[in-house]
Amino acid sequence: MKCGKELTQLDRGAYRKFVNRGSTSFLCKSCLAEKFGIKECVLDEKIEHFRKQGCTLFI
Ligand SMILES: [Zn+2]
Repeated sequence: MKCGKELTQLDRGAYRKFVNRGSTSFLCKSCLAEKFGIKECVLDEKIEHFRKQGCTLFI
């Protein structure tokens, strides 16, 4: 939605998880991290954390 990068399922899952569950437009992980003012690797860790909990957004 912002940088035009191809989005993965993970990007979309992360956006749903952290921004808006019902969203139909998304940011890639880098833009999402930028939006929150965190590093992309921190976002990756959060995603990994939720994935381990069995969050269905990150399958
Ligand atoms: Zn982007």
